[in-house]
Amino acid sequence: MSSKITVTDRNNAADETRKEWLRVLAKYQLDRECAGSVKFWSPRLDTASRDELRHIQDEKLLALIPFLYTNSEFYRRRFDRLGLDPREIRTVDDLILYWPVVTKTEMAEDVIAHSPYGTYSTMSDQVWAERGWMLFSSSGTSGTPRAFRYGQIDRELWAWANARALWAMGIGKGDTVLLVSGFGPHSFAWGALHALEKMGVPSLTGGGMDAGARSRVILRYSPTVLLCTPSYALHLGRVMQNNNIDPRTTSIGKILVGGEPAISIPATRDRIQELWNAKLVEFYGCTEVSPHVGGYSCEALLRDGPAFAHLMEDIQIWETIDPVHSKPTAEGTAGLTVCTSLMSESSAQLRFLVGDYTVLNYSSCACGRSHARAMGCFSGRSDDLINLRGIKLLPTQIEEVIRSVPGVGDEYEIQLNTDSAGLDIMTIQVEHPAFEEGSEISSRISSAMRTQCELRVGVKVLPPGTLPKTEFKAARVKDQRNK
Ligand SMILES: [Zn+2]
Repeated sequence: MSSKITVTDRNNAADETRKEWLRVLAKYQLDRECAGSVKFWSPRLDTASRDELRHIQDEKLLALIPFLYTNSEFYRRRFDRLGLDPREIRTVDDLILYWPVVTKTEMAEDVIAHSPYGTYSTMSDQVWAERGWMLFSSSGTSGTPRAFRYGQIDRELWAWANARALWAMGIGKGDTVLLVSGFGPHSFAWGALHALEKMGVPSLTGGGMDAGARSRVILRYSPTVLLCTPSYALHLGRVMQNNNIDPRTTSIGKILVGGEPAISIPATRDRIQELWNAKLVEFYGCTEVSPHVGGYSCEALLRDGPAFAHLMEDIQIWETIDPVHSKPTAEGTAGLTVCTSLMSESSAQLRFLVGDYTVLNYSSCACGRSHARAMGCFSGRSDDLINLRGIKLLPTQIEEVIRSVPGVGDEYEIQLNTDSAGLDIMTIQVEHPAFEEGSEISSRISSAMRTQCELRVGVKVLPPGTLPKTEFKAARVKDQRNK
């Protein structure tokens, strides 16, 4: 009898905290069904003052913490382990002061201990069975996949937030979007699709076909926006060129990329924009703090201007921390991204370490939006950092060097090995039509690596078409060093 009462009590508490969280959420879900103005989907939220944004974050956080504490075992255990009463966190400042960042490792350990979903979500088996919808997961490339069972409430919020982001990019009536994706359990393309449905913008789904078929879709139906990974934008454009179709003459005027860094790498951004004669715009985020877009381009991002992306601060709290001590970095200083997701039923997270390097800027943007911007966009995750003989660098820095050399193919491979003397070495493999006289290409790349990355590397020049083609998310670093 007593155990029944306990379960009922907990369910009542769960219901009460959820009701309050939903009430606050609804209060700030403005312009739910359609755009509030030509320039801003949600004018009041998109242009709110910095004080107003902080007030919204504080109010949402105050409702979120009891909801999370009551419904997520992972978070309840963490509060208890830290000896922290959830009522002690009432503001964003309190959160940053008292709550250490949550890492992927902590979440992965939780999944291993409570397979297959872990306990960080508020979505219990019972809620999942009752409300259903869709499962998304992290790729698991750097460990155990972390799964998220998103519910109907998440779907609605997701479509609304992503519609605001697409609107900011200048995507709307008159556009048709071709979504090239495998439509796996990753949130990028699905999130855009739901937003397009809400916006009443036509979409073409380009899954399950090869590049030849996709190029015929472009020629036949004249989409104005191409959505894909940066690697695929290059691949598709090259396949069209090989078939004597010039991508520059097609209907595509905008390329919306996600899944890999792109705008932060000037040489990659230039290559894609040149190849298609189109403007590159970007979605940035990760499955753990999805659904909802994290970073997004706006119309003030000029085709050849400085790179930056907005963050949506009324639904998420973004900060950067230094990688060594995990302390907040000063404004204008580079750090690793940390996100508190205030607006997901399944995946509300408190200070999750997303771990991309960027610099946050809180000054208002030429587009009129007041939300923080990640200057230079996002140059890669700390998980991907290569440490070679004590020198640390991101693969994106190497990509910038390689793609700055004219005529070098889009594909490349970074090989890390240990030589017979026990020294760790890097060899970069690239493709070039003049591979037989590759020494000039090779010395250009190795000398640029020395000056820009302070690293001596070997370079191998191969005939075009030798390296494996990257269709979706690229895996270009092969680490075969002796551990
Ligand atoms: Zn802007």
